[in-house]
Amino acid sequence: MPGRTLLILVLIAIAILAFRRLKRSSSRPQVKNKTTTGRMVQCAVCGLYLPEQEALSHQGRYYCSQSHRDGHTS
Ligand SMILES: [Zn+2]
Repeated sequence: MPGRTLLILVLIAIAILAFRRLKRSSSRPQVKNKTTTGRMVQCAVCGLYLPEQEALSHQGRYYCSQSHRDGHTS
Protein backbone atom coordinates (compact mmCIF):
# COMPACT_ATOMS: atom_id res chain seq x y z
CA MET A 1 0.00 0.00 0.00
CA PRO A 2 2.14 2.92 -1.26
CA GLY A 3 -0.48 5.53 -0.34
CA ARG A 4 -0.35 4.59 3.32
CA THR A 5 3.47 4.63 3.38
CA LEU A 6 3.48 8.16 1.93
CA LEU A 7 1.05 9.32 4.60
CA ILE A 8 3.29 7.93 7.35
CA LEU A 9 6.35 9.66 5.83
CA VAL A 10 4.47 12.97 5.69
CA LEU A 11 3.42 12.62 9.32
CA ILE A 12 7.03 11.86 10.35
CA ALA A 13 8.26 14.92 8.41
CA ILE A 14 5.68 17.14 10.13
CA ALA A 15 6.69 15.77 13.54
CA ILE A 16 10.39 16.47 12.85
CA LEU A 17 9.65 20.04 11.69
CA ALA A 18 7.46 20.71 14.73
CA PHE A 19 10.15 19.34 17.06
CA ARG A 20 12.88 21.47 15.44
CA ARG A 21 10.76 24.61 15.79
CA LEU A 22 10.07 23.83 19.44
CA LYS A 23 13.75 23.21 20.14
CA ARG A 24 14.81 26.45 18.43
CA SER A 25 12.37 28.60 20.38
CA SER A 26 13.39 27.09 23.71
CA SER A 27 17.14 27.59 23.10
CA ARG A 28 16.80 31.32 22.45
CA PRO A 29 19.74 33.19 24.00
CA GLN A 30 18.10 35.03 26.89
CA VAL A 31 21.40 35.86 28.59
CA LYS A 32 22.51 37.95 25.62
CA ASN A 33 19.37 40.09 25.74
CA LYS A 34 19.79 40.59 29.46
CA THR A 35 23.37 41.85 29.19
CA THR A 36 22.81 44.16 26.21
CA THR A 37 19.81 45.94 27.72
CA GLY A 38 21.38 46.50 31.15
CA ARG A 39 23.96 49.13 31.97
CA MET A 40 27.48 47.90 32.65
CA VAL A 41 29.14 48.91 35.90
CA GLN A 42 32.64 48.34 37.26
CA CYS A 43 33.56 46.70 40.54
CA ALA A 44 35.31 49.20 42.83
CA VAL A 45 37.67 46.50 44.17
CA CYS A 46 38.80 44.34 41.23
CA GLY A 47 37.63 46.45 38.27
CA LEU A 48 35.43 43.72 36.78
CA TYR A 49 32.64 44.88 34.47
CA LEU A 50 29.22 43.37 35.08
CA PRO A 51 25.55 44.24 34.43
CA GLU A 52 24.11 46.79 36.84
CA GLN A 53 21.28 44.48 37.94
CA GLU A 54 23.79 41.77 38.89
CA ALA A 55 26.12 44.13 40.73
CA LEU A 56 25.95 44.92 44.43
CA SER A 57 25.74 48.65 45.10
CA HIS A 58 26.88 50.24 48.35
CA GLN A 59 27.26 53.97 49.07
CA GLY A 60 27.20 54.88 45.37
CA ARG A 61 29.79 52.28 44.34
CA TYR A 62 29.34 48.93 42.64
CA TYR A 63 30.83 45.58 43.55
CA CYS A 64 30.94 42.22 41.74
CA SER A 65 30.50 40.10 44.86
CA GLN A 66 29.54 40.31 48.50
CA SER A 67 33.14 39.81 49.66
CA HIS A 68 34.32 42.77 47.55
CA ARG A 69 31.48 44.91 48.89
CA ASP A 70 32.56 44.08 52.43
CA GLY A 71 36.11 45.25 51.68
CA HIS A 72 37.96 41.98 51.23
CA THR A 73 40.37 42.21 48.31
CA SER A 74 40.92 38.47 47.91
ZN1 LIG B 1 35.19 42.65 42.45
